[in-house]
Amino acid sequence: MIKRFRVLVKVLCGFCVVLQLVGAASAVSAEEPRAIVIITVDALRADRLSSYGYPRPTSPAIDELLGDGIRFEAARTNEPLTSPSMCSMITGLDPQEHAATRNGLRMREGLDSLPKILAGHGWRTAAFVSNWTLKDNLTRLGEHFDHYGEVFTRRRWFGLLNSEATAEDVTDEALDWVSDHSGSDPATPFLVWVHYVEPHAPYRFHSEYAARLGIADQDPKRSDRYDTEVAAVDQAVARLVGGIENHVAPDEMIVVFAADHGESLGEHDYWGHGRYLYEPSLRIPFGMTWKGTIEQRVIHRQATILDIAPTILGLLGLEIPGTFQGISWTVPAKGGELPSERAICYQAHKGAVHGEHDNDRKRSKGLLSVGVVHESRKEILRVKNNNHMLFDLAADPAEIESLVEENGPPSDPLLECLGSISEGLGALDRLTSKKLDDETVEQLRALGYIE
Ligand SMILES: [Zn+2]
Repeated sequence: MIKRFRVLVKVLCGFCVVLQLVGAASAVSAEEPRAIVIITVDALRADRLSSYGYPRPTSPAIDELLGDGIRFEAARTNEPLTSPSMCSMITGLDPQEHAATRNGLRMREGLDSLPKILAGHGWRTAAFVSNWTLKDNLTRLGEHFDHYGEVFTRRRWFGLLNSEATAEDVTDEALDWVSDHSGSDPATPFLVWVHYVEPHAPYRFHSEYAARLGIADQDPKRSDRYDTEVAAVDQAVARLVGGIENHVAPDEMIVVFAADHGESLGEHDYWGHGRYLYEPSLRIPFGMTWKGTIEQRVIHRQATILDIAPTILGLLGLEIPGTFQGISWTVPAKGGELPSERAICYQAHKGAVHGEHDNDRKRSKGLLSVGVVHESRKEILRVKNNNHMLFDLAADPAEIESLVEENGPPSDPLLECLGSISEGLGALDRLTSKKLDDETVEQLRALGYIE
């Protein structure tokens, strides 16, 4: 029905460009959005945003965005690593199903995905990524989009090659694409996914935000530098959303905001992400807006990055494939009843393949931890040494006091998670991986994924 309507619009509306320039975006009803914008920010902790209670004003634009729709207070990524989680967001599959369980291991070929489904309904799709680990030759994400923009304009650390881009550069590229598309084919709706690399380590100091954040200009601490990175990406998010609104009215645009994972800033004596399932690297900010359709609401039920694809399809009234592992939040987004709490599985793997030798290792050998969260009960099993932990997140949000013996038996839900993840990894072990070239290995090392 939607497709037929759009064909009709294309046939009848030879002057759509003109209509759009005069702001007549309402040619398409609000029931059918003209744009879906997915914004992901690398290594962004939820609790460093004002909307999640942080006292420093790091994130005025993101807060405003999240305040306009549903915001999930208890959202987590399924694996705290860039490529695995972003491949999950796009395909709706957990890592043991899509196969990109570590940075540098590609997804299976020909998987179904959110952008492919939308393309099948006449949408144009584009992605703009600025983290080396999301390159198409390391992920196979490119096959899911009409345009897969790898934006690498800057050198990272002392690397010889451009391996990342600032938020400004990525925003420019994404806005150029939106502008070109809106000018040449305004009747065709579009999905654009933009992934910002800030505030991924190394945390740069953006001195222009220091005064606002109350940070001394001299010798800022690592954690303070991280906050200025959040402020910088917040500015880019404002410019991106504002720039797209020049072409699409807010009530015709779904905006999704999330992080690929959080970041441990010294908790449990750990800086970074990927290796552990503690909350600092697992918990993410997550929200969705669609003015006039999605209500303003804070949701405390557990949500994950896997819920993004089914929720978008649900909002569009499209069928959600049975393979998608998340749930659709469409009903609560429109003010309806909340689903009951789920027990959700989480997994941590070694960070990246280490080049030729490691590339041939089995995916199952990279599994470090499996976790399960149900309401405030969080259980983690360190696979290597059978170290078992149980936390009550309501009473002990910092996960300091485990409530079980270290070598005690895991619960049935945890064993179920371990079983399904191990089974999937076992099946993947039969896959062969493409060898990484030297340049790629160097960049993965520069990003801190190769020890
Ligand atoms: Zn990341």
